[in-house]
Amino acid sequence: MIKLDNVSKRYKKGSYFSKKYIDALKGASLFIEKGEHVGIVGESGAGKSTLCRILSLLELPSSGSIKIDGEYITKRNIKSKRGRVGIVFQDPATSINPLYKVIDAIKEATNDLERIFHICSLVSLKEELLHKYPSQLSGGELQRAAIVRALCMEKADYIVFDEFTSALDISTQVKIVSNLVEINRQRKYGFVFVSHDIRLVNFLSDRIYVIYKGEIVEELVGLKDAKHPYTKSLINGETTKRNDSGSGCSFYEFCPYAKEICRNKKPELLRKGNYAVRCFLYYD
Ligand code: ADP
Ligand code: MG
Repeated sequence: MIKLDNVSKRYKKGSYFSKKYIDALKGASLFIEKGEHVGIVGESGAGKSTLCRILSLLELPSSGSIKIDGEYITKRNIKSKRGRVGIVFQDPATSINPLYKVIDAIKEATNDLERIFHICSLVSLKEELLHKYPSQLSGGELQRAAIVRALCMEKADYIVFDEFTSALDISTQVKIVSNLVEINRQRKYGFVFVSHDIRLVNFLSDRIYVIYKGEIVEELVGLKDAKHPYTKSLINGETTKRNDSGSGCSFYEFCPYAKEICRNKKPELLRKGNYAVRCFLYYD
C-alpha cells in the first residue's frame, strides 16, 4: 500500500530570492492498495501533478509522511525506492529521455525484450518505432512508449498516470485502458488515474479522490454518491477561477450553497467508511 498522511507541499513562487509561497498541497491523506484503481480528479492547478510527483517518489512532501508497504520514505531511501512506482507524465515529451533511442530508454526499466514487445502490442506501439529517437515519434506514440516503459519496470507495483490520455485519440484511449484492466487481472498493480475529466476518472476507477486548491474535498466510490458542491460542479462541467482563499472553505466564493460559517471556518474532512466529504452542509 502507498499511504500519504497529512501531506503538504509548498513551493516558492517566482524567483529564487522571492519570499512568496504557494501551497500546492494542503494536508492530503490517501492510500492506494495493490490491485486497486484509484482516481484523482480536480481542475488545472488543483495540485494533481504535485501529488503525482510525491506518489512516484520524485519529491518529498514539505510536511506529512509517505509510506510504501509500511516503510517511511525519507531523503535517505527515496532514490532506492523510486523503482517501486512508475509514472506516465502529463507531457509525453518529458517521460522519455530525448537523448536515447526509445528502446534504450525502455531498457532502463527491463532487459526482458519479450516483455517489452508484449507490452508494446498491448498498447499498439509498433516495434519499429522502438529504434527511433523520441523526437521522431508523434505525441500519441511517445505517450504509449512512456506507458510501456512504466509497465516494464520490474519492481514497480504502482503506476501513476498523470493526464495520460491527453495526447491520445479516443479510440486509442479506450483500447489502452481496456488492455490495462486486462493486465491488472494477473499482475495486480495499484493504478492511479489522474485527470481533470471526472467522467473519465469515474469510468476508470474503483475509488475517487476529488482535489480542489490542494485539498482533498471528497472521497467517493462512484459519482452517484457526490455531495460536495465542487464535485457536483465538475460533474456539470462548470469550472472556477483559482483565487487565494481566505480562512474559510476553499470553494466558498463559488459555492451556490455557501453559508456564513463557510466564509470564516475551514471544514474538516468528515469520514464514514470509505466515503469522506469536506463541507459544512453535511455537518449535523
Ligand atoms: P495540476 O496538475 O492539478 O494542474 P499542479 O500540481 O501542477 O496542478 O500545480 C499546483 C500549483 O502548484 C499550481 O499553482 C502550480 O503553479 C504550483 N506549482 C507546481 N509545481 C511547482 C513548482 N515546481 N514550483 C512552483 N510552483 C509549482
Ligand atoms: Mg497537472
